[in-house]
Parts: sequence; C-alpha cells; structure tokens
Amino acid sequence: MKIIAIARNYKDHAKELDNEVPTEPILFVKPDNAILRPGYDFYHPDFSNNIDHEVELIVKINRVGMNIEEKFAHKYYSEIGLGLDFTARDLQTKLKNKGLPWSIAKGFNHSAPISEFISKDQYEDLQDLNIELKNNGETVQIGNTKDMIFNINQIISYASKYFQLKKGDLIFTGTPAGVSKINIGDKLEGYLNGEKLLDVKIK
Ligand code: MG
Repeated sequence: MKIIAIARNYKDHAKELDNEVPTEPILFVKPDNAILRPGYDFYHPDFSNNIDHEVELIVKINRVGMNIEEKFAHKYYSEIGLGLDFTARDLQTKLKNKGLPWSIAKGFNHSAPISEFISKDQYEDLQDLNIELKNNGETVQIGNTKDMIFNINQIISYASKYFQLKKGDLIFTGTPAGVSKINIGDKLEGYLNGEKLLDVKIK
C-alpha cells in the first residue's frame, strides 16, 4: 500500500509556513514503512531536531482505479479516519532550499500514525467535519474539512491520474494551521467531530 498526501490544502496552514495558496493540488507519497498502527508509540529519531505534527482526515481506498472522475470518486472509499503526517521540517527546509527532493523528510519510518477506520456513512457531510489535535491536553490544531482548498473527491480524481489507486491505499487530505514541533514525552490526541480517534505518545 501507499499513502498519497496533499500539501497546503488549508489556506491558514499554507500561510503559516509562508507558502503560496496552490491553484492545483500538490501531492507527495509516503511509503508503507511510514505507517504506525493504532496503539503504538512513536520513537523520536535522532536525525531531526524538528518534527512537526500535522493532523489530517484520511480516507481509505477500497478498490482499484485510475483516471477516476470526480463525480465517481465517492465510490472509491467507504471508511475514514485520522492520521498524523509527521514532517521532519528541518530536513525538509534544508532539502527544499537546495531544490532537492524531500522524500526522507516525509516518508521516514513511522511518520504516519493512523487511527482505526470508521464508516463514512455515519457522517452527513464529509466536507463539514471538525478536526482537532491536542498535545498534552492542550488544543494545538483545530480545523474543519469545509476549509479544504481541494475536497476529498477532487484529490482522489487528481491523484488517480498519476498514481493508480489500490485497495488499502490511504489519502491524507491536508492539515489545518497550528503545526508545531513534537518533543519526547508529548501525548498527541486527535479528535474527529469531538470523538477521540488518535492517541500517540512520543518516546
Ligand atoms: Mg500534511
């Protein structure tokens, strides 16, 4: 499986990193070694001094597809969850400034903690969900999926032009503002519409 992620999909987050608001989706891929299953702790690697948390709504692809039309995209997923797109910001910035690919900054081991998945049918409107991340009990990120620049179906349609989607692939749909550095000892908790789905300790 693979993880397809979109960068800068919330205006307020693009702004906090001094990035332009995109007119076309900006995609990147995290390999399967990035997955950290529910219930596991994250061990902070020593190659970075600044790993940021990015809490994101994720969707799980349930069938194979390429060149999916936006109007059919909803048929390609039935479950959603929350994930963290851990980013080694120091490595990313260094590589970006040299014009080099920053795969290691996004795709390193366990850089994608995920929650259990839940049926999307229990939500009336997937583009109106509250996402919140607490760190040590304090709210650090808060957003609503209505503020996505590209909605879920647009991301799936666009991504499938380039990357054939397969059953089990995950789409990370972007993070709202409030990203910041994680530290050993932190306890990250992610909430979807007030329901706690994610719980990751940093060791
Ligand atoms: Mg992200």
